[in-house]
Amino acid sequence: MSDDPSPVTATIDFDRPGRHRGFLAVASSTNRSAYGTVTIPVTVIAGGEGPTLLLSGGIHGDEYDGPVALMNLARELEPEKVRGRVIMLPCLNLPAVVAGTRLSPIDGLNMNRAFPGRPDGSLSQVIAHYVSTVLLPLCDLHIDFHSGGRTLDYIPCITTKFTGDEARDRRSYAAIMAFGAPLALINRDLDEGGMIETLCMRQGVVNISTELGGGGRVARRNVAIACTGVLNVMRHLDMLDGEPERAEGVGRSRLMKVDDPRCYAMAPDRGIYEPLVELGDQVEPVQVLGRVHYPEHGEKEPWPVEAPTGGTLICRRPDAQVQRGDNVAVIAQDVEVEPF
Ligand SMILES: [Zn+2]
Repeated sequence: MSDDPSPVTATIDFDRPGRHRGFLAVASSTNRSAYGTVTIPVTVIAGGEGPTLLLSGGIHGDEYDGPVALMNLARELEPEKVRGRVIMLPCLNLPAVVAGTRLSPIDGLNMNRAFPGRPDGSLSQVIAHYVSTVLLPLCDLHIDFHSGGRTLDYIPCITTKFTGDEARDRRSYAAIMAFGAPLALINRDLDEGGMIETLCMRQGVVNISTELGGGGRVARRNVAIACTGVLNVMRHLDMLDGEPERAEGVGRSRLMKVDDPRCYAMAPDRGIYEPLVELGDQVEPVQVLGRVHYPEHGEKEPWPVEAPTGGTLICRRPDAQVQRGDNVAVIAQDVEVEPF
């Protein structure tokens, strides 16, 4: 990573008490605007002494539950009741959120594969670099809000990754259990390079992230889970008074893990995917999860997609059109023994 300072400027002072709303200004020279600027909304709510919590949403632009929850909290959280400071970026990848796309429409990058970023790179890399070098060093805990986006549909969950550093893993685990989503997931992604989670692991920042529903929708229940989750983590960190609560219809989090590439089932061919199991169903290894049909070949048998491993279906592709290699299902396993 270059040592050059970030070219991003913030219009608010992160150290001033009270509620301050402004934006991060990032130069973006485009066909439409030669001296253009992308302005990413940021809110700081600072009360008395206490930890700093960084909340980000919209790193992927087609995942809306978290951004809506954070936009609500940015208006509603009362600074007088907060011990410490909350920095909120509901739509970190603003151009992607406006376009409703996972990747940035400006540089085509997946922002959650662009960390730690670079100060002299493209827009996504410059924003990632600002978060890495200016915001993360300020914060004690980071919550990144994702949903499944247009191509995935999740049972709402809060996730973290373990690093082997017991003190940090213990704090991460306590934070996901405090958050209060239906599922608490200890996970591993297929490609962790460039993720903000991986950077947090390296920088020693406790990081947890959500996967709330998906399909390009906003669901009232998922927004409630996100809002309650933020307040619960703040209570857990003693930033707010009160006891942890649960969003309507949510009980104690079910602790699960996704720690094996076999948890991800892929489409074997291009066609129309017919799911044969529902979210939340228990599946056995090699059980048929669904099958790919061939609309142009009436004589051809559909190709079954077998479960690569056993467990519970926690995520599914909502779009029927699939190509070879598309993820159609994620299977998680229960964690029988609490890690701490
Ligand atoms: Zn995402």
